[in-house]
Amino acid sequence: MSNERIYNFSAGPSVLPEEVLKRAADEMMNFGGCGMSVMEMSHRSKVYDGIIKGAEALLREMMQIPDNYEVLFLQGGASTQFAMLPMNLATGSGLVDIALTGVWAKRAYEEAALLAKANIVASSKDKTFSYIPEMPASCFSKDADYLHICWNNTIYGTHFTEIPDCGTTPIVADMSSSILSEEVDVSKFGVIFAGAQKNMGPAGVTVVIIRKDLIGRHRADTPTMLRYDIHAENASLYNTPPTYGIYVMKLVLEWLRAKGGIKAMNEINQRKAKAFYDCLDESTMFRATVQGKDRSLMNIPFVTGDEELDKKFVSEAEAAGFKNLKGHRSVGGMRASIYNAMPEEGVYKLVEFMKAFEKNH
Ligand SMILES: *Cc1c(COP(=O)(O)O)cnc(C)c1O
Repeated sequence: MSNERIYNFSAGPSVLPEEVLKRAADEMMNFGGCGMSVMEMSHRSKVYDGIIKGAEALLREMMQIPDNYEVLFLQGGASTQFAMLPMNLATGSGLVDIALTGVWAKRAYEEAALLAKANIVASSKDKTFSYIPEMPASCFSKDADYLHICWNNTIYGTHFTEIPDCGTTPIVADMSSSILSEEVDVSKFGVIFAGAQKNMGPAGVTVVIIRKDLIGRHRADTPTMLRYDIHAENASLYNTPPTYGIYVMKLVLEWLRAKGGIKAMNEINQRKAKAFYDCLDESTMFRATVQGKDRSLMNIPFVTGDEELDKKFVSEAEAAGFKNLKGHRSVGGMRASIYNAMPEEGVYKLVEFMKAFEKNH
């Protein structure tokens, strides 16, 4: 099986661990002897209760989520959170601070601006979002209902290295493309949310980790399905949750635990990213678009400086079994997303391929 599979560098939906896919295949027709697939069972059945509770327990264990946080499994992608957050949280001053660090932060800004007063506290737009801007304590509003940050910028390949110092204002962090890749002190955040399809499972599940005291502050006109309190009170079973996606996420979390958890995974991620950045920094053909400390471990954009050569590289890499290396349509060039499930050997082989390509061109 393994030699039929290519190396998939897609930014999302992205590579899943082969062990997880195999296990899902083995259990497809008959889950745990119950005679049906997880896809076919009631979300209110005893068997499914074990799956969803198990997924939550594993996520809590892996991320060491404190008891004063709820874990919600929602739908609508990370994008729906851009609207749910202001609806549920921007009800004090009605002011939302946002750090503009890329496309996803901009989307969050635009949604917040529909429902609240959205305020950009810092921006890296001047240099195509290739760095994380400084955020001195003085840049934050005193009475903001929350500060929104995009912790890892999937498209531009930047990553926060410090948690902004905004005093008592709760920080809401979009960790869609970095969750489970590094240890994070959950207690420093008001809300952490992530779409599953980058580093946790298939598309369709969105994880929201929210401090309990932030629940129940929604606007009176918030539709029921968009209220955090409704989903929290019903343990993510107010309506039918994305049942199969949650099941696959549980398998991914079991795989992560067997690998030694997030700390062990982060050591592998550091090695993978170092090998890749070293290759880019030593190359006279390729270069990384992000420099220094803000470089992401998960998403690595790079260019040759020549669009034709970029195209040639992408197509030759594709032919050699390294897929989805084309950069985001808004940036061009290339991007390698090397999430937890990308095997170390996949990165080393790509590096070898790049060195050979450079020699031959
Ligand atoms: C992919 C991504 C999103 C959008 O996720 P959807 O699930 O497609 O809504 C938002 N934020 C970040 C950081 C992402 O990487």
